[in-house]
Amino acid sequence: MPTYTYGCDNSHRFDEVHTMSSVPDASACPDCGGPARRRPAAPHLSAAGSSTYGLIDAATKSAHEPQVVSSLPGTPRRPGAGVTRNPLHAKLPRH
Ligand SMILES: [Zn+2]
Repeated sequence: MPTYTYGCDNSHRFDEVHTMSSVPDASACPDCGGPARRRPAAPHLSAAGSSTYGLIDAATKSAHEPQVVSSLPGTPRRPGAGVTRNPLHAKLPRH
């Protein structure tokens, strides 16, 4: 059964497990007894942005889109690589 997150007016948050067909829109806060409304966001999405979520996202992405590397890690770049030797290029404005 899915877990739903509720929040009361005193910023207390708590989770309740309900079936999708019988989930109430409001409940009583166990901390202060005040009325609490169901939060629209799915509780599991609250992990978005955390480091754990980032790791999961990176692992999932790497399974489908492996990062392309141009050289082996730790391999020093060839001296002069990426530098043009055409003298005309030296006259181009530098940014
Ligand atoms: Zn409360």
